[in-house]
This record gives sequence, C-alpha cells and structure tokens, in this order.
Amino acid sequence: MSKRLQEEIARRRTFGIISHPDAGKTTLTEKLLLFGGAINLAGAVKARKAARHATSDWMKMEQERGISVTTSVMKFNHRDFEINLLDTPGHQDFSEDTYRVLTAVDAALMVIDSAKGVEAQTEKLMEICRMRNTPVITFINKLDREGMDPLDLLADIEEKLQIECAPLAWPIGMGKRFKGVYSLYRKQLNLFTPGAETRNQELITIEDLADARLDELLGDQAIELRGDVELLEGAANPFDLEDFLKASQTPVFFGSAVNNFGVRELLDAFVELAPAPGPRMTETREVRPDEEQFSGFVFKIQANMDPAHRDRIAFLRICSGKFERGMKVRHHRIGKEVALNNAIIFMAQDRAHIEEAYPGDIIGLHNHGTIKVGDTFSSKEPLKFTGIPSFAPEHFRRVRLKNPLKVKQLDKGLTQLAEEGAVQVFRPLLGADWILGAVGVLQFDVTMERLKNEYGVDAVYEGIDFATARWIDCEDAKKLEEFQKKNQANLALDAEGNLAYLASSEWRLGYVQEQWPEIVFHKTREQG
Ligand code: GDP
Repeated sequence: MSKRLQEEIARRRTFGIISHPDAGKTTLTEKLLLFGGAINLAGAVKARKAARHATSDWMKMEQERGISVTTSVMKFNHRDFEINLLDTPGHQDFSEDTYRVLTAVDAALMVIDSAKGVEAQTEKLMEICRMRNTPVITFINKLDREGMDPLDLLADIEEKLQIECAPLAWPIGMGKRFKGVYSLYRKQLNLFTPGAETRNQELITIEDLADARLDELLGDQAIELRGDVELLEGAANPFDLEDFLKASQTPVFFGSAVNNFGVRELLDAFVELAPAPGPRMTETREVRPDEEQFSGFVFKIQANMDPAHRDRIAFLRICSGKFERGMKVRHHRIGKEVALNNAIIFMAQDRAHIEEAYPGDIIGLHNHGTIKVGDTFSSKEPLKFTGIPSFAPEHFRRVRLKNPLKVKQLDKGLTQLAEEGAVQVFRPLLGADWILGAVGVLQFDVTMERLKNEYGVDAVYEGIDFATARWIDCEDAKKLEEFQKKNQANLALDAEGNLAYLASSEWRLGYVQEQWPEIVFHKTREQG
C-alpha cells in the first residue's frame, strides 16, 4: 500500500451542508469557498446560479419558484486539506436526492438560524445523518441579529435532534450587542465589528477569563461571558472526539456567515475534527480507502449542467485507490470495461479535466445513458457498494401522452429519468400506462419539463388513486402467485422489474399486510 495514497487520503475531507431553507447555507458555502481561494468574488455562487438559470428552461422553473433543485460538487483547499463540498437541494421535495448525496459524504455541517432554532427540514436531514452515523458539526448562524438564547438553542438541538451538543465556542451577546465569539478550546477571543471585513482579523489569546483585558475589550459583557462559561462548565458536555465520530455528539460553533464572522474558525475546526475518507461496505466485503484497487460508486446523475451541450454528468465518489486519467475500469452492472478519459472535477466556477484523484474526491463522468445511480466502477474485482436506497413514493401520477406517435420518446425519456433518480416509474400489471411515483410532488414538474425539452414529448398528468407503495417479496412462490392474482389492479413493476404494491391509503396497505402475513412489504429498496 503506497504511502502517497495514505497521505492523500488523510488530507481529504468530503462533506455536505444541511439546513432548513434560509438558514444561510448558500452564504456559508460562498464564504467557505472564499477561504479556499476557489472564488475571488463574493456573490459568485449566487451569480453562477443566476447565470445557469438564464440559459436553462428547467432551471428557469427553479428560479421562478425560488427553489434550488440542483446539487453541485465543489472542490477547494484550506491549509493542507483538499475539501470536497457537496451541495444538497434545500427543498424537501427533493429529499431523495439529498439522501443520495449524503451517502457520498464523510461528515455534515449543519447550519441553524439563531432566531429559529431547529426547523422542519433540519430535522429530516439530521434523520438521514443519523441513519448513516454521519458525524455532524453545527454552525449557529446570524448572531448579528436578535435570536434565541444560546443555551436554549443547544437545548432545542438536543431535544429535537437527539444529539448531544458540545459548544467549542461561545457567543458574546447577540444582535446589536453582539461582540464576538470566544473559542473555548483555543482560548481565543474573536471580536466582531459590524460591517467590517472580519475574516482575517487577529484573534486575541486570553488563557484565563479573569484576565483584566477582557473587561477592557468587552466592558460589562466580560462578566456575562465569565458567567456563561462557568455555567457551561457545569452544564454542557465536554467535547469528545469519539462521540463526535460516532455521531452521538455535535460540536457547536457560532457566527455570522454574511459577515464572514466565525467562518474561518469553523473551517479550521472542521478540517481538524471531521474524519478523512473511511471504509465503505459492499455486498461482498468492506473496502478500505487505502487499497490499491480503484473503486467508486455513482450517487447522482445531473442533466443540463451545461445547457449548451445538454450533457449529463454522473457523479462518482472514489472509495479506494488512485484515479488516473485514461485508466480502464469495469462498469459492473453492464459488465463492460470503460476507459475514463474525460473525467472532470468541479470548482466553484469551472470544471476541469482531471489527471488524478483520490478517495473522498468526487469525479464527474459523461453519461450517455448507460450509467445509473448506484452503479459501481472498479479496476477489477466485481463490487457493489450498498446503502443507496430508493424510497417508497408517496405521490403518484398517470402519464397520458397527447401525441401517440411519441410513445418511443416517452419510454426512453422515462427510463432515463428513472435511472437518474429524478422520478420513479411503474408499469401496472394491468394496462399499458406509465405510472410515476415521487417522494415530493415537485419531482413531477421537473420530470414533465424535461420530457418536453429533452425528449420532445407532449404529455399531461392525470391523478391516480394511490397514496403509497411497497416493494414486494415472498419466499413462498405459490403464495406470491396467489397474492398477484388477487391484487392485480394494485400491482406494478418498477424500472428494474421489481414487483411493487400500490395502495390507495396507508390504512388499506395495513389491511392488505394483515391479510397476507407471508408477503414481505419493503419501504425502501437498494438501487441496482
Ligand atoms: P439558504 O437558503 O440556506 O441557502 O440561505 P441563504 O444563504 O440564501 O441566506 C438566506 C438569507 O439570510 C439571505 O438574505 C442572507 O443574506 C441572510 N443571511 C445569511 N447569513 C446571515 C447572517 O449571518 N446574518 C444575517 N443577518 N443574515 C444572514
């Protein structure tokens, strides 16, 4: 095992930001990229979003509705670290997509609005992190505004998210009285000046809070800080790296993203605390990142990244070995060898052809309709990474084609969109219509836009009386046959030919489950 490979792994950090819309994810992303030197212009992240909107119909919809659908990957450096930041869609209708993105990270950064505390979408995203034991670092944002009491914020996080909080910094006042942040583990004071460019400010080391300099710098608020810290020593949990890595504790930081305040401290702590890429499970064995063999899996396919080319990019997370341009790898699902000549990486504003990459890195592969979400690529050994599920849809539509001559285009479009994970498709056992299933209804709008623009299909949706679905399984072939006969009207095959039961209500589903104890009903299904 090469030393170089190990060193490259050790300096990689791959993470996603989770937050409720408006908490400050975009602003924080932008500031993080500024530190990395990935962009040199404040506002570039948003400008980039806007530029894309202008050229793509599909994104126009995003813009009109003020939601962000796209997920992008950005690479930047900080100190000696190579950081991959995966952006997650903020809108809950795309939570399935977000879930898949979070399968590719090693840690998450949770942003919380100090005035609002934990919000609905934060809870959902945290649930996903918990399912995978992803370590989470918390940033409480907007301290320049009046917000909740910091202790109440910690209590809110602990209660709603079921995770222990360990503050590593503490705010001094808030809103108009916001004076800055005291780092509890570095024993440094970071003073806030409203409106000033605060990111490269000198930090003042104050080992002992009894130091009289504190009174000079903070006035009355020095006493408050002393009181708070004393209280914390008794009440708050001490930081424990192992608990953080096990995802049972989250270190907490405070700041103001828009003022770029507290962001450098957050990033410094992040690269030091967050884990480097670790081992990952496949169907056959655990794969260590420092294995010589290259391996990785596709967690997302994105269309229209460059509308001029109508291209589709498959995002692959490298799990082991070194990637080299032109290397030959096996695409196991279709049993083919492919040469990776044109893999790309993504910076904030650019994409570039990549010569080499390491575990934790995300590379983009051009997809001409052969790559599916969940696909594994490796140098030799047949592997299949696990943990990339489909979720049972909760919304359904029947597709009615307006121009029957376009049936081929419709079939092709829906098959590809399903492979990208944009929507789920079902073929009922009775009848020839397509039934679409989604976790969030906006997925239907995106699908229809893309059917029109990319496949030239003119179709409309019709409502259909289904409210939930389960994938069906049964060891007893006879029972299964019997079940199929009796429930034909509710059965359909998904894109991969798996049998699914579509129910008109949760109640109805429960009833059928009781009637057929031998049949197993699955709420999620592994991709591939
Ligand atoms: P996102 O929806 O989570 O990506 O949130 P944005 O980054 O777009 O921020 C939402 C709003 O909050 C914007 O108007 C930001 O300017 C504002 N905002 C972000 N960070 C701060 C902050 O630290 N203080 C204040 N006062 N506003 C902020």
